Amino acid sequence: MPTISVFDIFKIGVGPSSSHTVGPMKSARAFTVQLAESGAAVDKIQVTLHGSLAYTGKGHGTDSAIILGLMGCEPETLDPDAVDDMLRAVHSSGRLNVSGVGDISFSAATDLVFDYAEELPRHTNGMRFIASNSDGQHVLSEDYYSLGGGFVARGDEPESASQSGEPPYPFTSGAELLAMADQDSLTIAELVELNERQWRSKDEIRLRLMNIWSAMQACVERGLRTEGVLPGQMAVTRRAAKLHRKMLDREEPTVLDAMDWVNVYAIAVNEENAAGGRVVTSPTNGAAGIIPAVLHYYSRFVRKADDEGIMRFLLVAGAIGTLYKINASISGAEMGCQGEVGVACSMAAAGLVAAKNGTNSQIENAAEIGMEHNLGLTCDPVGGLVQIPCIERNAMGAVKAINAARLAMHGDGSHKVTLDQVISTMRQTGLDMSTRYKETSEGGLAVNVPEC
Ligand code: SF4
Repeated sequence: MPTISVFDIFKIGVGPSSSHTVGPMKSARAFTVQLAESGAAVDKIQVTLHGSLAYTGKGHGTDSAIILGLMGCEPETLDPDAVDDMLRAVHSSGRLNVSGVGDISFSAATDLVFDYAEELPRHTNGMRFIASNSDGQHVLSEDYYSLGGGFVARGDEPESASQSGEPPYPFTSGAELLAMADQDSLTIAELVELNERQWRSKDEIRLRLMNIWSAMQACVERGLRTEGVLPGQMAVTRRAAKLHRKMLDREEPTVLDAMDWVNVYAIAVNEENAAGGRVVTSPTNGAAGIIPAVLHYYSRFVRKADDEGIMRFLLVAGAIGTLYKINASISGAEMGCQGEVGVACSMAAAGLVAAKNGTNSQIENAAEIGMEHNLGLTCDPVGGLVQIPCIERNAMGAVKAINAARLAMHGDGSHKVTLDQVISTMRQTGLDMSTRYKETSEGGLAVNVPEC
């Protein structure tokens, strides 16, 4: 298992999906780097999408992500406002300028194939890239996999480590995390920061954490002021801006004001995500609203909230995310929505306890509660779009995370079910779940709700 940093869990990217947009874009770009290094003359590139990428790829924008990746775009730096023009130029000219390779003829209708029949061996989110020369001979063929949360792997190679060097506290389970922290009298946030110090300076850690927080705030702000209809055949009307105005117009406070604000923050982020805007993958794009919503709740409603609390939140939430990545999966196509919204809820609950200076046991308890009541949550996006139930589900997940944190902080940290047990249960439940409920849009709401 590669070493995972908090900054692998939180990444600035574009919507609507980390597994179906961010991962494929990164894979396509990586294929062009291989091609350029090979020096081969290329006349044609054909890309086949398999498994869940075939079933819900159109709704999730996988085809567009592949084209942009072949052009050399990266999710972190791509300008979402430039995308439409770039794609229009490719489709109208029938030409694709492949990064490091050059201009080739390209037709999305024939060169981007959705293969519903065959799954590639390693993971349901598989892609096969084949480059040929003018004689039709294959000059390079490679399989890539999008493993959820923007993580990718090539063929049967292990996932490449994004960091070099083992950190001082190489925990791989909740029990190890608690024991290591206990042994050196550290809070979980302190321990995670010491691990990050293996790879970057204290100042850089602070800067990057605050950049993540700024990107989340910018995303919420855009979501709160943007109106209109989301892309896709369902013509879903955005509602965050209207809800926001309604709350600003409220003359008298109500007892559930905080909950209304949490709802609107989460919806704002997930509407931005559905519109292909810039979001922080946390730990996926489909679940990208939960952590920003709970962080905004902390910053607005918790007395004495400060930047140190924001950083504790992100360090601890990131550490909990790595436990799911190592011991289960953060891919909706593998685990259903429990692997996306459930994981984000668990991370946010733990982060909030850390921000409020709860104990290590309370943090572990909050993370456990956050997942326990998301077990079995299916993935059934209507029309293959990351909109229904995804947008509202983030609001529900954020409220649940705050409740999990409160329950944990009302106790002394002792509890019957451990975080490791619930992660293991989530994994087994995901393996037992029918593929109809794993990002294929073949079951649940996706077949019971008309698309338009
Ligand atoms: S239902 Fe959940 S896992 Fe599925 S696409 Fe929506 S947010 Fe992601």
